[in-house]
Amino acid sequence: MLLSADHRAVQDAVRAYVQDQIAPHAARWDKEHHFPAEPLKGLAELGCYGVAVPPEYDGAGLDYLALAIILEEIAAGDGGTSTVISVNNCPVCSILMAFANEAQKAQFLKPLARGEMLGAFCLTEPHVGSEAGGLKTTAVRVNDGEGDEYVLNGVKQFITSGKNGDVAIVMAVTDKAAGKRGISAFLVPTQTPGYIVARIEDKMGQHSSDTAQILFENCRIPAAYRLGEEGQGLKIALSGLEGGRIGIASQALGMARAAFEAALRYSKERIAFGVPIFEHQAVQFRLADAATQLEAARQLIWHAASLKDAGQPCLKEAAMAKLFATEMAEKVCSTAI
Ligand SMILES: Cc1cc2nc3c(=O)[nH]c(=O)nc-3n(C[C@H](O)[C@H](O)[C@H](O)COP(=O)(O)OP(=O)(O)OC[C@H]3O[C@@H](n4cnc5c(N)ncnc54)[C@H](O)[C@@H]3O)c2cc1C
Repeated sequence: MLLSADHRAVQDAVRAYVQDQIAPHAARWDKEHHFPAEPLKGLAELGCYGVAVPPEYDGAGLDYLALAIILEEIAAGDGGTSTVISVNNCPVCSILMAFANEAQKAQFLKPLARGEMLGAFCLTEPHVGSEAGGLKTTAVRVNDGEGDEYVLNGVKQFITSGKNGDVAIVMAVTDKAAGKRGISAFLVPTQTPGYIVARIEDKMGQHSSDTAQILFENCRIPAAYRLGEEGQGLKIALSGLEGGRIGIASQALGMARAAFEAALRYSKERIAFGVPIFEHQAVQFRLADAATQLEAARQLIWHAASLKDAGQPCLKEAAMAKLFATEMAEKVCSTAI
């Protein structure tokens, strides 16, 4: 697929920044579990926090193809940083664009798109992953003299930026009897009393991104922070997943590309049997296979993103891109090692 001059310019700008400010430090951040606040400010200045958010809401006004390109570049520098940016864009900003009212957009979407706030998304629970309809976290509406509020109670699991984020979109049950139609979505500033970071998960990698368990203990938020109508929560949560799949696929692509490039460089330095190992045909075959897999993943991702940008359905294409790119990344990284 041929990129436009605008998309190439975005790719060049983000690649230059990432290779200069992020890639050289990524291994240390991972080891020290360091959250890269300063480099993230630089990415905010490049418009990476709200890539597909229109300028009237302080976003970059670009599209999902640009988001795919940007996330590949960031992930090629540091996987964890790409996860932070990926979640902020999609599902967080994409959900706010689609479902927030104007007051919520002014208070939350604009600072999120500018990079002055960081967003988190709380769907998963300790016993609820793929089957998102089975949530246990509750939100009860009260009007007891402290104002019209919801009180949240429950546990959320594997929440990206659960600790470092400023605001979280939280899915909770408002009407148990209504099943999947009894879930609602809320904006919860993470400084709200009762929003408790219980644990940071110790993952196998991506340590510059915190993945937290969050407890909601009588966490009270204004009723005005509900997104959409009561009962729309699952629809709201799932609406962010199509773009999210394109994002996660792009991250997998970027991480695999970095592993491939490191292997390619090393194959030209390492001498065995009198020549750089790159000269051995068995090594060339493996590198050529990896390069082909990377390009195939990129084309699937860019195709899904282009469909989304054209306003066409792309649920299947986004799922295929995520499946292929993530499986490819595991294989290419193993080859590179
Ligand atoms: C690094 C990281 C960051 C994350 N960030 C977030 C976040 O910000 N917000 C958030 O809400 N969640 C987040 N998650 C959670 C992630 O979305 C869940 O891990 C995911 O929804 C799967 O849930 P689970 O881990 O409970 O797996 P389960 O749902 O328990 O699935 C376990 C296994 O069973 C398989 N399986 C399940 N159902 C079926 C089925 N019907 N048919 C066939 N196979 C099936 C799954 O494919 C999987 O292999 C994050 C996870 C990770 C690892």
